[in-house]
Amino acid sequence: MTYSEKDQQYKRYTVTSALPYANGPVHIGHLAGVYVPADVYVRYLRAQGEDVMFIGGSDEHGVPITIKARKEGVTPQDIVDRYHKIIKDSFAELGISFDIYSRTSCPEHHATASAYFKKLYDEGKFIEKTSMQYYDEEAHQFLADRYITGTCPHCGNDHAYGDQCEACGTSLNATDLINPKSMLSGNPPVMRETKHWYLPLDQDEPWLREWILQQHKGDWKTNVYGQCKSWIDAGLQPRAVTRDLDWGVKVPVEGTEGKVLYVWFDAPIGYISFTKQLKGDDWEKWWKDKDTKLVHFIGKDNIVFHCIIFPAMLKAEGSYILPANVPANEFLNLEGDKISTSRNWAVWLHEYLKEFPGKQDVLRYTICSNAPETKDNDFTWKDFQLKNNSELVAILGNFVNRTLVLTHKFYGGKVPAHGAWNELDQEVIKEMATYPEKVGRSIENYRFREALAEMMNLARLGNKYLTDTEPWKLIKTDPERTATVLNLSLQICANLAVLCAPFIPFTADKMHRIMNLPAMGWQHAGNANLLMEGHVIEKPELLFEQIDDATIEAQVNKLLETKRQNELNAWQPNQVKETVSFEDFGKMDIRVGTVLECTKVPKADKLLQFKIEDGMGTRTIVSGIAKYYPEPEKLVGMQVCFIANFAPRKLKGVESQGMILSAEDKDGRLILVSPSQLVTPGCNVG
Ligand SMILES: [Zn+2]
Repeated sequence: MTYSEKDQQYKRYTVTSALPYANGPVHIGHLAGVYVPADVYVRYLRAQGEDVMFIGGSDEHGVPITIKARKEGVTPQDIVDRYHKIIKDSFAELGISFDIYSRTSCPEHHATASAYFKKLYDEGKFIEKTSMQYYDEEAHQFLADRYITGTCPHCGNDHAYGDQCEACGTSLNATDLINPKSMLSGNPPVMRETKHWYLPLDQDEPWLREWILQQHKGDWKTNVYGQCKSWIDAGLQPRAVTRDLDWGVKVPVEGTEGKVLYVWFDAPIGYISFTKQLKGDDWEKWWKDKDTKLVHFIGKDNIVFHCIIFPAMLKAEGSYILPANVPANEFLNLEGDKISTSRNWAVWLHEYLKEFPGKQDVLRYTICSNAPETKDNDFTWKDFQLKNNSELVAILGNFVNRTLVLTHKFYGGKVPAHGAWNELDQEVIKEMATYPEKVGRSIENYRFREALAEMMNLARLGNKYLTDTEPWKLIKTDPERTATVLNLSLQICANLAVLCAPFIPFTADKMHRIMNLPAMGWQHAGNANLLMEGHVIEKPELLFEQIDDATIEAQVNKLLETKRQNELNAWQPNQVKETVSFEDFGKMDIRVGTVLECTKVPKADKLLQFKIEDGMGTRTIVSGIAKYYPEPEKLVGMQVCFIANFAPRKLKGVESQGMILSAEDKDGRLILVSPSQLVTPGCNVG
């Protein structure tokens, strides 16, 4: 039984989570936006005794996967096999409780997506359009925008892609590029006519406007509603549902070789294919019965697909229900910066699981308490540590542990009988009874942070009760009252085990095991009689442990190292300076000299003082490279290049008679330039 009257009309729930794209592993941004909230929702509905199906899988088609495969010299199938396994395994380890986690490259999905297209095609639901597109004559194929590079018309970057210039961030059309080249053959592409099918979204506008902007005003999240409204108000355009590509679901129409279903068309049909895989002949009611509630959990970048395009596809088919809600989240940032797969600026789930074994719930808790439900939010390792140490350890863990330890100390691990509840007890019992509904109602309204905070408030109530009653002192003066206090504290622990389960299921399992609690539904929570007198409690174990500064520092350093690498990777050589004539160059007198002495200039951190044998005698040159040569005496005997006719100048009181040449590497290090063989000191360079 759910708390929302609307939900009480439903017989079953079909819950989907966005299909992660299988060209990389999953990171905390995905978890916060989609998977943790979806899993909390599903686990809660199951605890409510609802009939729920939770669908997930990998999205394995599309151009980026083919590009990654080409870069690595493997097949697209190799790429998706690799990441599907990593993603699937890491979700399972984090306890994301899919009923099925499948993939769009499987034959069942190809068959379903193909039949779906064919039905709409046969019924004339698409419009056919020809357009001009770039074609590679050597590779014999049409080119996706990403497969074309050229010069950006806005900033002159020579490596802009056909869909975007990464240097200036402008989105482009392939035809905007100056000197376009195919990434396949390196040749300039030619224009050719190609035919595609389009979903006429412009015709869907009236019912979409009514369905979303009228019917779902107020029950869809404001960020979702707002985005839909601006799409609809801007006027919907027909969207191509096919592409020229050789990786994907083949278009099931004769004479369309080399064409596949556009990935955004085939991916959401995956939810249906996977349902068929899971339920067999019983699949239809999960998608076609009006008593089924369909909910899509997605990130904000997916709103248009799940709120407008996929519903338009479902409506065009005619026999499907539409989603009742699409609770999309905003984005999670990492340490103040946007998460980026290409820049490796992320906390990867599979790495976290390796580096923090047994701490799935700490991540689930941190992510959920910080989920970007109404605006973008930030994940920091400091906050992760704080949430663990001062909430999980200090509030929930502490309360449960104190209660269980005292039960063992005073009653040999058996639940003591309680006497009459006094006024304080009654207040606590009354308050405890409100939590199942408080937590449940927040979950049903997709306010997971609020739900989690309420669950923790019950642990706070428990802690306060212990502090107010002090059973560790009370035992000496009033053993009977102590038994009552601990009985009630144990009841709170049992309630927590039920109410924390959607959020931190591993901890809930542990609490059930320690307290020998049978599996309980949500409806049992809120009562002070979950544990009977004499019920045996196992030896307590700590639910959580402190995370120390060194562990957090190691993670922060890992990110700092990524940042440093990114800066190096972003390095580009300086622009070539203005042209100089041979005569101008001839004015520079560059020579080779041998280092006779080299010392630090006193009171100047950056400067080294060289004494150079220059073929005519010796000269002193001061150079600002001390930071890169911490042992200057080791330079004695080395040959360096210097400008012999450089105007003398005084540096920190030392007259420098020339300039020593060095190269500045991309990380800013200065490296002395030296001839590749010993030469006669004083000879010219040129
Ligand atoms: Zn540009």
